[in-house]
Amino acid sequence: MNERDAEIMAQSLTGDGYLAGDSFEQADLVIINTCSVRAKAEQKVMSLLGFLRKIKASRPDMRLCVAGCVAQQEGARIIERMPHVDLVIGTQHIYRIAELPEAARLGGQRTVIDLQDNYQIPRFLPQSHKRLPAPVRPFRKFVTIMQGCNNFCTYCVVPYTRGREVSRKAKDIVDEVNVLVESGVVEITLLGQNVNSYGRTNRVDAENPEYGFADLLGEVAEMSGLKRLRFTTSHPKDLSDALIRCFADIPKLCPQLHLPVQAGSDRVLRIMNRHYTVADYLEKVNKLREACPAIALTTDIIVGFPGETEADFSGTMDLLDQVRFHGSFSFKYSDRPGTRACHLADKVDETVKAERLARFQARQDALSLERNREYVGTVREVLVEEVTSSGARGRTGTNHLVHFQDTLPCRPGDLVNARIAHAGQHSLQGRLAEKQES
Ligand code: SAH
Ligand code: SF4
Repeated sequence: MNERDAEIMAQSLTGDGYLAGDSFEQADLVIINTCSVRAKAEQKVMSLLGFLRKIKASRPDMRLCVAGCVAQQEGARIIERMPHVDLVIGTQHIYRIAELPEAARLGGQRTVIDLQDNYQIPRFLPQSHKRLPAPVRPFRKFVTIMQGCNNFCTYCVVPYTRGREVSRKAKDIVDEVNVLVESGVVEITLLGQNVNSYGRTNRVDAENPEYGFADLLGEVAEMSGLKRLRFTTSHPKDLSDALIRCFADIPKLCPQLHLPVQAGSDRVLRIMNRHYTVADYLEKVNKLREACPAIALTTDIIVGFPGETEADFSGTMDLLDQVRFHGSFSFKYSDRPGTRACHLADKVDETVKAERLARFQARQDALSLERNREYVGTVREVLVEEVTSSGARGRTGTNHLVHFQDTLPCRPGDLVNARIAHAGQHSLQGRLAEKQES
């Protein structure tokens, strides 16, 4: 989501006459698009801002802007503490980026712009603008379908930094995808904090009040030039049977799902406010695998949530072995400002967290390798991303990276068939099997 937001800002500014620069030392305007989901991400922002202080000292005309979640969270405190920052832009104002630096310059004052009431996502997001230059990777794009989150998982800062959940109108999304497909894009990833609840908090289709995410997937998949469709992220509690059926019924929907479970202990899941049990989660996994036996599942895990015991953590390890995820993102719990988990007693010691994380990751690495080895000898469809003089790389529908050591008679954006020859922990190696019609 942050990657897409950064792209929206870059595209808005390019449309307005700015050029992308190569270095901080040359830039007239530097925008840091920030993430505050974990403490570590926020610390990185702070150290980058420290570094930029020196550059700004030698080039006082450079404008420095902090955008995104840390901007939203810290607001005026950034301006107060950091005299070298000119502009702080909250998460809902990135679409106005082109007018803001100039306004701050003309006004001669340092400005903070934060969450709006009655927020509406603009109808057209920058990639549907005709003035845009050709995108860097025109064959694969993200499309934001909603913003914010209403779930309030107790550890999570997102509902505070991105505000209440708002879905874009289905027609606007379909129009945006259409423009992209016509310009040569073959793979689309629909984005939202919880795409499964798309259309639930506001009406997205004038004629059909029940229009939901499964309807949107069906509609987008009908576009003839589109070859692959993905989405992220899904909350397990909202993964409906209708959505699970899409994996069986929509051939363009890639056999891949990121389904964050967070923990393998019902007690911890309850305190996290996740609204499902381990058994509920496993039932959804079974249904998904019945609908689409080839599906590759990935997840997010938090270790060391306040009060997590060794028994709770073994539940997470057991779950890992039961599901045998193709991959996972795992994090040590960190306190985020304003969240309920911040105030829980029984914080887990840092060394215990680190030790649990290492155990979890070692097991996941072994599982990923086992899973990847299951592909050896099979033929997979690969969307080519990069072709060089010595080889190429691309991704399978299951989202596995495949490296080719031979030069391919194809371009980025082509679909080819690869016979998988070797599996590593993080990627596969393949040989070209036969080229598909594109
Ligand atoms: N909306 C998505 C993910 C949002 S944040 C979803 O609900 O799935 C991405 C991941 O960061 C989360 O899934 C969670 O595993 C992790 N995360 C969020 N807050 C955290 C915290 N305070 N400490 C550690 N990890 C956290
Ligand atoms: Fe955060 Fe939970 Fe919303 Fe995901 S669903 S963004 S984890 S509050």
